[in-house]
Amino acid sequence: MNENGKKRSAGKSSDSGIRIIEEIVEGFWDCPNCNAKNRGSAQQCESCGAIRSENVKFYVDEDSEVISDEAELEKAKAGPDWVCPFCSNMSPSSSTKCTGCGSDRSDGKNRATRELAAGETGKDEKKSQKSAETPKSAPPAPLWLKGGCGIFALLFVILMALSCHEKAVKIEITANQWVRQIERAEYKTVRENAWANEVPAGARKFSSERQVRSHKEIPDGFEEVNEEYTEKVKIGEKQVEDGKVDLGNGRFKVKYKVVPEYREEKKTRRVKRQKFRKEPIYDEMVLYDIERWVPFATIELKGTTDEPRWPDSGASNNAPPQIGDLTEKARIETYVVKAKKDGSPEEIEIKKLRDKPLTHEQFMKLRVGTKWEAIFSGLGDLRDIKFQP
Ligand SMILES: [Zn+2]
Ligand SMILES: [Zn+2]
Repeated sequence: MNENGKKRSAGKSSDSGIRIIEEIVEGFWDCPNCNAKNRGSAQQCESCGAIRSENVKFYVDEDSEVISDEAELEKAKAGPDWVCPFCSNMSPSSSTKCTGCGSDRSDGKNRATRELAAGETGKDEKKSQKSAETPKSAPPAPLWLKGGCGIFALLFVILMALSCHEKAVKIEITANQWVRQIERAEYKTVRENAWANEVPAGARKFSSERQVRSHKEIPDGFEEVNEEYTEKVKIGEKQVEDGKVDLGNGRFKVKYKVVPEYREEKKTRRVKRQKFRKEPIYDEMVLYDIERWVPFATIELKGTTDEPRWPDSGASNNAPPQIGDLTEKARIETYVVKAKKDGSPEEIEIKKLRDKPLTHEQFMKLRVGTKWEAIFSGLGDLRDIKFQP
């Protein structure tokens, strides 16, 4: 459309800063008789003189000009043309006689007006729009990707099958190994420190001193500092078409949304800020002696085919405990057997059956030289031993 001489009605502004403006442009119509392109306001074909009937469609295109002349604007806004009931010619609403045959208007009805969506020109556009709207289906996955997934899936299935598949194999026990440990603690006098209000009961104070425990923030005047902030700065406007109205007389009303465009700008300003100074708060730090159970050397016994035994922990049962007393914190027993499969020189180490550590009872059955039926997974891991035939 012609950019020059655009006359706009005063825009309505909303809270978002968006304004709506309107302008009147002249449309065109194509003669159904000779196909000539006529100005919208022309009542008859300027080429062959054929009348502009009700079926003739008005449209806008890039040649449409904005109407700025006051008299022409009056005509555009006067209303739709009326259709002559005798000759089908259309006459402007201001005319009481048919501009084609001269008959009186009598009951000649008005031509319909219509609303057009943004971008629509008024010409038959349905075909071209449809093809543009055809949704695109997602492209098929490339062949190598499909193949890759397939191979991984197959490997996964094979691994699952191997790991789930179990088979029984005869084994012979070749070695026994047990370890029994006791974790201990000793009752001792230790020196600790704590703030006076946190010293535990039973502590014997050794010494104390004043120390800074925390700080207090004291308001101490004001200072001027630079503060960064962002500001929205309007850098222009974007005009977007918001639909048209075919006025039914060869002219169109075109609506535009005028949307302001902003940029965020970083700026600096001087601001007053409260200053604070730190003031120390003192408290009494106490050094004291107290009795505690502290970790002491772990004691252990080891053996092979002999009966597993617990070491002597040396624990005493004094109540209340005395300095130098020992106590048990935890008992840990570990059993391991070694075995070899029938007809194989390779030794396997067995610490767990069905993911649980070997128990004392199991260990005592799995003596060196005894033979068992063991269950292995398809991957060759020992799973279990059949203690009952
Ligand atoms: Zn014509
Ligand atoms: Zn007429």
